[in-house]
Amino acid sequence: MRYGIIADIHGNLAAFKEVIKHLRGVDQIWCLGDVVGYGPDPNECIELLASFSHLCIAGNHDLGAIGKIDLDDFSLDARIACEWTGRELTLQSLNYLQNLPLELNPIDDVTLVHGSPRNPIWEYIISTWDAEANFHHFTSKVAFVGHTHIPIVFQKFPKDTRLPAGPPTGRAGQVCQAIGLEEGKVFTLREGFRYIINVGSVGQPRDGNPKASFIIFDSEKFSFEYHRVSYPIEETQEKMESNKLPAFLIYRLTHGI
Ligand code: ZN
Repeated sequence: MRYGIIADIHGNLAAFKEVIKHLRGVDQIWCLGDVVGYGPDPNECIELLASFSHLCIAGNHDLGAIGKIDLDDFSLDARIACEWTGRELTLQSLNYLQNLPLELNPIDDVTLVHGSPRNPIWEYIISTWDAEANFHHFTSKVAFVGHTHIPIVFQKFPKDTRLPAGPPTGRAGQVCQAIGLEEGKVFTLREGFRYIINVGSVGQPRDGNPKASFIIFDSEKFSFEYHRVSYPIEETQEKMESNKLPAFLIYRLTHGI
C-alpha cells in the first residue's frame, strides 16, 4: 500500500491543493496534525482532507483553536492566528477537530504523532538527543512526526552496531544519527534500524525552502519518496492580509522560515 504522509497544513489551502495533486494515486492519506492555525483557510483545508480516505491526529494548533489547550503557551503571533481560527471554524470543522486522536498505529510497525512519541502535542524533536530519548517511548520500527516543520530522518542503530569512525554523533553511547533528505529521492528503511521521520510541513515550511513538503510511504518496501512542490504563495498571503493575520506569518511563507 502507498500512503501520502503530510503534516502542518496550517490552513494553507493553496499549498494543500498542490500537494493533493501529487497524492491522487495513494491508497490513504495520513495527516500528522495542525490542519489549522496560521493560515487563512481552516475550514476549506479540513473539508478537502475529509474528502479523501485518510487518518488524522491532533496537533497543538488544532487543539488550541477549539479551546482544548491553553493559548498562553503559544507565541503571540500563533495565539492571534489561533484565536482568529477559532472564530472562523464552522460547527462541522469544530466537530472534526474535537474528535482527533493524539496517536495512531495505522499498520504494524508504524506510529503517528504530531510532536513526539513522548509528548505528542508539545515536544519538538530537533536534535539526535531529543530523538534518542524518544526511541524509548514507542515500540514500532518507525514513528512519523511533524510539528517542527523541518523534514529530517533520525536513524537509530541496532543495539550491537559498531559506530563508524568519523564525526561524533553526540554524547558518548549515543546510537542515533540525523540524516537530511533529498528532494525526489527514495529513502529505504533498513532492517534492524528504527526511525523517527519528520515529513516537513505543507503549509508553513521552516527549513529555508518555501515549497510544500510531503512524503509517499510504501508499506511493502518500507521506503518513502520525499517531495517538495511549489504553490502560489501570494494567493495565501493575500487572504492572510485581508483577514489581518500577523505580518510575520505572512512574510515567513516567502522564505520558508
Ligand atoms: Zn505546526
